Amino acid sequence: MPVCLFTCHLPLSLPLKTPAGRECPHFYGNYFRGRNEEECRLLALHNQTWYPDLCKTCPVPDVMRANSCQHMKLNVVVGRSIATLFQKRVQANAFCEKVKRNVPEPQVGCGECHALPFKFEIKE
Ligand code: SF4
Repeated sequence: MPVCLFTCHLPLSLPLKTPAGRECPHFYGNYFRGRNEEECRLLALHNQTWYPDLCKTCPVPDVMRANSCQHMKLNVVVGRSIATLFQKRVQANAFCEKVKRNVPEPQVGCGECHALPFKFEIKE
């Protein structure tokens, strides 16, 4: 894992906190020497315009915290829906590249790699 050699010696891949205060692996901020550059690289990847207020209600940090499956890819759009009273929100859909199908509950996963429901063994 690459490490910052100049100032902090922390791993460079640490997720930054968004303007909403949650860690998100897709948020990028550059504050070095007075710079104040921020962007969402996931929305940029999908040609969507980002602004800081979107992070307050974005579902992506919760999904990433619950499910870090390497095969699951998130597709995001910024849209308005009736459920959000037509306010702009990030809407995320998940797709599993291993089984080539949509994942209805991204926090849980598709169930291919990790069978559902989970089986717990209690040793006596
Ligand atoms: S909009 Fe969502 S995915 Fe993008 S940086 Fe903010 S919390 Fe992360």
